[in-house]
Amino acid sequence: MVFSAVIVAAGSSTRAGPGAPKPWRSLGGRPILLWSIEAFAAAGARQIVVVVADGWVDEAADLLRPFDSVSVVRGGSTRADSVQAGLKALTGAADAPVLVHDAARPLLTRDHVETLLAALAAADGAVPALPMADTLKRGADGVISETAPRDGLWRAQTPQAFRLATLLDAYAAWPADAEPTDDAAVVEKAGGRVVMTPGDPRLMKLTYPEDFAMAEQLAGGARITRIGQGIDAHRWGPGDAVWLCGVRIDHDQTLIGHSDADAGLHALTDAILGAIGEGDIGEHFPPSDPQWKGAASDRFLQHAVDILAGKGGRIINADVTLVCERPKIRPHRGAMRQRLAELLGVPIDRVSVKATTTEGMGFTGRQEGLLAQAIVSVETPA
Ligand code: MG
Repeated sequence: MVFSAVIVAAGSSTRAGPGAPKPWRSLGGRPILLWSIEAFAAAGARQIVVVVADGWVDEAADLLRPFDSVSVVRGGSTRADSVQAGLKALTGAADAPVLVHDAARPLLTRDHVETLLAALAAADGAVPALPMADTLKRGADGVISETAPRDGLWRAQTPQAFRLATLLDAYAAWPADAEPTDDAAVVEKAGGRVVMTPGDPRLMKLTYPEDFAMAEQLAGGARITRIGQGIDAHRWGPGDAVWLCGVRIDHDQTLIGHSDADAGLHALTDAILGAIGEGDIGEHFPPSDPQWKGAASDRFLQHAVDILAGKGGRIINADVTLVCERPKIRPHRGAMRQRLAELLGVPIDRVSVKATTTEGMGFTGRQEGLLAQAIVSVETPA
């Protein structure tokens, strides 16, 4: 389903102890803000607007440059002002779903998003909520004055889903002298019907210093590893050089193809697309399209890497095998690994290029063509 997201990252984080504001602290080695952005991107968000505090706009723009669906706006003095600033930056239709989320809840998954969008179909708003498990006490100065009934009480989390116009109209009607603690409260007050979806302890809001350690432990399960493989073959023909794994090698033949026929890069491109369920190279770059005639194949690989990055993913490692009798690959292996590492954005020890022959058997043995196989592992949000 088409949806947009507003991530509020403009709070002052006064309860979280010393250090940078929460969105900029590290969780699992990455800024907390990035976790929500990657989750929304993986869930297919059309547009993501990040609302940051004054003074953090440049930092945010830098961090978010790889995501073309993400924009950054400056927040207001209250959460409500910041949410409205984010909503105004959205370009979707009035009835398009928008999810408003606190950056301080980084362990969001695609499942949370899909559940909320499904619930919104029959409501004016949808909010993940957890039942109260603990007994509620009222008290002051360390002494209990009363045990409060917890029946019918829920803990509301984010993201919270609404249609854009519903939320904008509700905010317009909200009294200027009151401060809502979440967006659902605003829609409820305007008479909207807001439903609850199952909450998740992983959507905890990082508030106090000890919350960060707990989130570190939970974060381990929020990303998954995927494997992809690709195979490509091209026919030998007359020529004086061949492109393999992004490196030009002088040779008494060339590989024939619509592009530069770099079978190594084609196999690797297919492996990445395969790992993330994004079809194959022929779908993204149809051989019938004249613009790809003679094209350098590194742009195909770059495209696959960009799609992966747009989903919040990254390459873990890649292993390419070239099957041919000639040319000798070993003298070029270092340059190939170097070039692939550059294109994939990983250290060189994450890239392997191997070569083998088929001892004269089959089409590679008869030197009719060259075969390449690639396997990659990638890490993406769950
Ligand atoms: Mg090919």
